[in-house]
Amino acid sequence: MNTHYDIAIIGTGPAGLSAAINAKVRNKKFILFGNDHLSMKLEKAHQINNYLGFPGITGQQMQTLFQEHLKEMEIEITEKKVTNIYHMGDYFSILANNEIFESKTIILATGVQVGKRFEGEDTFLGRGVSYCATCDGNFYRGKVVTVIAYDKKEEEEANFLADIANKVYYIPMYREEVEVDKKIEVIRDRPVEIIGVQQVTKLIMQNRELDTDGIFILRDTISPSTLLPGLETNENHVKVDRLMQTSLPGCFAAGDIVGKPYQYIKAAGEGNIAALSAASYVDAKA
Ligand code: FAD
Repeated sequence: MNTHYDIAIIGTGPAGLSAAINAKVRNKKFILFGNDHLSMKLEKAHQINNYLGFPGITGQQMQTLFQEHLKEMEIEITEKKVTNIYHMGDYFSILANNEIFESKTIILATGVQVGKRFEGEDTFLGRGVSYCATCDGNFYRGKVVTVIAYDKKEEEEANFLADIANKVYYIPMYREEVEVDKKIEVIRDRPVEIIGVQQVTKLIMQNRELDTDGIFILRDTISPSTLLPGLETNENHVKVDRLMQTSLPGCFAAGDIVGKPYQYIKAAGEGNIAALSAASYVDAKA
């Protein structure tokens, strides 16, 4: 199914949410990808002292206020993870949980990836390493797969793989209790290196090695250059100008993804600029 939008906003942290309310104010047809909890980085903050107007607010209180703001403005979140964006010239094609969406502009507000990529991860990306179980799971029918998960919500993805693969290893990178299908073997260890020849064959961990045909690395955020090939980056940050325009016409970015300081109010401010820039871009093309 192809669905056409003026603006597609990827991310539900303060940058993406601020972009969404401004896209609404500018009366644009937009879609907001992310999750109903908004952002782990909001949920986890104990006390925020530097957000104008809300001294001492907790992350969870701010999360509730943001959710109420969305409700008030009738803004819905599309709970899908975007795994690839393709620049098609005068529009963008977006792949999210195996569905394709089309949009004239994009606002990247996905935050920054925490932690380094594993040794061998880039080499075997697309050759056994994947960031999306629902997209690539079917390639592993009857095979052995390993899931490295950074969030409890990924347990659902592992359960999905357990119905397809012969064997699923699950490596939680979070502390909460793991509740997955009984067929899945849960291993608490630290992944170090991905090994293979043409395709992945092994995952080396600190204490043990696993023979595996595929490795699903399910982080909260995918690196910007993997998400949208061709995008100019500076280390792990997307390069933008003062209008939050990236190197690709029609693609804007805001928040932690464009660089430090990593702060809520900066993210929200940049989301505002990105949405206004995207709206002007759409108007200029009309
Ligand atoms: P994020 O908040 O990281 O949100 C990104 C969102 O995008 C997430 O919802 C993620 O799930 C979603 N996403 C990512 N990739 C995809 C995809 N491919 N498809 C769909 N959705 C996707 N800052 C302050 O100013 N003051 C503080 O007191 C403060 N305290 C903090 C305390 C903690 C514990 C932490 C971790 C951070 C704190 N920060 C603080 C920093 C602040 O959290 C970040 O600067 C801010 O959240 C950045 O907002 P963002 O919108 O750029 O990204």
